[in-house]
Amino acid sequence: MNGTVGTWLMRLRDRLPSGGGLRDEDWATRHRLLTVLLGVVVLVVTVFGALRPDQGATLLWTDLLVLPCVVAGTLLRGRRLRSVAVAIGFTVACAGFVSLSNGLTEAHFSFFVAVAALALYRDWAPFGAFLVATTLHHGLFGVITGTHTYDHHSAQAHPLLWAGLHGFAVLLAAGFQVVQWGLTEAEERRAADNLEESQAQLSVAFDETPVPMAMFAPDGLVLRTNAAYRHWLRLPDELPADFSVRDVPLVAVAEEGSAFPRMSASPHPLTLTRQYRRTDDGELIWVELHSTPLYDKQGTLRFIFVHCLDVTSVRNHEEELRRQVRHDSLTGLLSRKAFENDLAVLLAGRNPVSVIYMDVDRFKSVNDGSGHAAGDDVLRALSARLSRVVPPGALLARLGGDEFVVAVTGPPGTGLRVGQEILASLGEPLDVAGNPLPISVSVGVASDHGAEHSDDVVLAADTAMYAAKRAGGNRLEVFAEDMRVSVHERLAAEARLRQALAGHLPWTLPLWFQPVVSTITGQIVGAEALCRMRTPDGRILSPFHFIGAAEETGMIVPLGEHVLRSAIEHLIYWSGHLGYVSVNVSPRQLAEPDFVPMLADLLAAHPGLDPSRLVLEITETALLSSTVDVSERLATIKRLGVRIALDDFGTGYSSLTWLKSVPADIVKLDRSFVAGLAEDQRKSSIIQAVLWLAQSLGMSTIAEGVEEMADWEALKAAGCPAVQGYFFSEPRAPEEFQQMLINRKCVTPMAQFT
Ligand code: C2E
Ligand code: CA
Ligand code: CA
Repeated sequence: MNGTVGTWLMRLRDRLPSGGGLRDEDWATRHRLLTVLLGVVVLVVTVFGALRPDQGATLLWTDLLVLPCVVAGTLLRGRRLRSVAVAIGFTVACAGFVSLSNGLTEAHFSFFVAVAALALYRDWAPFGAFLVATTLHHGLFGVITGTHTYDHHSAQAHPLLWAGLHGFAVLLAAGFQVVQWGLTEAEERRAADNLEESQAQLSVAFDETPVPMAMFAPDGLVLRTNAAYRHWLRLPDELPADFSVRDVPLVAVAEEGSAFPRMSASPHPLTLTRQYRRTDDGELIWVELHSTPLYDKQGTLRFIFVHCLDVTSVRNHEEELRRQVRHDSLTGLLSRKAFENDLAVLLAGRNPVSVIYMDVDRFKSVNDGSGHAAGDDVLRALSARLSRVVPPGALLARLGGDEFVVAVTGPPGTGLRVGQEILASLGEPLDVAGNPLPISVSVGVASDHGAEHSDDVVLAADTAMYAAKRAGGNRLEVFAEDMRVSVHERLAAEARLRQALAGHLPWTLPLWFQPVVSTITGQIVGAEALCRMRTPDGRILSPFHFIGAAEETGMIVPLGEHVLRSAIEHLIYWSGHLGYVSVNVSPRQLAEPDFVPMLADLLAAHPGLDPSRLVLEITETALLSSTVDVSERLATIKRLGVRIALDDFGTGYSSLTWLKSVPADIVKLDRSFVAGLAEDQRKSSIIQAVLWLAQSLGMSTIAEGVEEMADWEALKAAGCPAVQGYFFSEPRAPEEFQQMLINRKCVTPMAQFT
């Protein structure tokens, strides 16, 4: 039986609302309201009591009992005590009101108002205290002063019964409030459950996501981190309560520094990418930070929510890709594309730019002979060597295959100097896999000359390099306009020359002779041997058509030897009639190490010949552009007794003072100074100066290209010792020239004037 009642009571208790569920701030608001209400009630009761006759004592007691309740409701600690104090205050006020109105039934309504008001506490304690106190008051005061408590006889006769009835009525009135609590509590529970569920979902999303996330307070305090964040930063699972953004084990690498001040200052979500160094192991990482600020309703920043994406591998990958695009994978030098871009930037600048184009000589044989891996080693070793030689700030690239290119800025001549340094640096063999490997390169140099496109300069340097390669390699050529001969023409000229050299030389490559005439005697004192080519169909070609190709291909060497040999033979043959023969020697020939020995052999083969009857004509450019020590070579030639003529004087960089340092015996004044000399005062004064200087240096002078009688007479008057030109004779085939020698005069119609 007891058990059944117990279960029933238990069930009832479970059904009843628990009460006391208000949040502190909500409770405080309600408490304040009720305390003020109680105060107002006291005031109303006091005024009411003051207006009633003979109720002074009741009023005094009421006020004396209620006021401490108001004070206790304000000053006591704890929700329970304070709410109970207010509840008792209400009971006393209502009881006072009933007494003051002599138990008027309508005055009892105040108890129902009070219980409804106290329901605001949503707590059993003030509610219960009010019920108990009300019932006790009705019982006690009904018994003591029945007429002041009830206004009808049955209640005055049975005060306890009526106390019970009133208590029950108040309880019933309270019942609806309790139902109201119950409903509210159920609703709140559901809301709380929902909230909890969504919070749980959020927590899972936050804690379990693989993206490192953290929540910061505006002052940088770390409020919450997820496992990914702690794992990423190698932090323990439990962080100290005061762990802040300053304790995060990362330091910003770049100047912009910590991202947090910007994130906390930004009213909007922000994405920042920063490079950090981990403080524990020094590793460099790239991080993409996404911050979202969270504001409360008042617009105050509460939290900063930060996602951290470690983008190190993406960044490194990107950089590697960028590097690969910019660099040649084999040598690590710039790629063609990057070189072209950077060169365009250089060309847009103010400084003159030189491009040096290099191609490894006979690289194919290295590749074919030792395999591609060995070829790669050679290219790597060469690029290392080039990197050492090239000045800082220069661009160095591999254009593919065995072709390298350098771009340097600097005054004119910088490209030539760097090119020569590169050539010189390859005098030492390369170290390829521990073995010394001698290699050489062909070098072409070109300057920008205000080139609009980087292609133009590179092409010019390439053309010059091609010329160096054609001339046998291991040399440097500076680009000149006349190198721009089409590839087709080049090949055709080359083929023709090869064919001519393979034929009967006196027929295919005959020497023609042009007389040099003394202005004093009018006699032929010597002759310049000028080479011609006879094509298979019998045409005679001027040197213009084949000397260039001969120089580029290196065929100038056998050709030059043939010219020298043939010239000497003719000289010996015409011994009684001709003083000397001069032979043109190109820079390329002079640079050839075998040239001087070959000349010595030829002279030795003709012991009867006076070597001074042989003159070698060299141009100024031969002296300037050669990579070998020409003056040394010229000195040897002079020791052999052979004379030297400085050809085309006045067309190059020549200055009169420069003439002193050249070991020449003869100066050949270029045609451009001679033509129109009679009418040009400037030309004649230059000629005067050259004549005077040459004479003072012990040199003879020959004026070339004399076509007019007036020029011839002007030269004669100026004291030029010898002349050469169409005025006397064009270059002639040997038979015709011989006829002139025998007749002791030139055969040109104009010769009659001599
Ligand atoms: P160069 O040494 O200046 O030879 C003189 C050139 O001027 C010759 O042309 C000759 O025909 C030309 N000439 C002579 N007098 C006159 C004149 O009064 N008026 C004009 N307008 N021209 C005149 P060529 O024979 O065509 O030779 C051209 C160049 O070819 C030579 O210039 C020389 O540099 C080169 N050359 C000729 N033969 C050889 C050779 O055997 N070896 C080398 N390395 N070069 C050669
Ligand atoms: Ca000449
Ligand atoms: Ca000349």
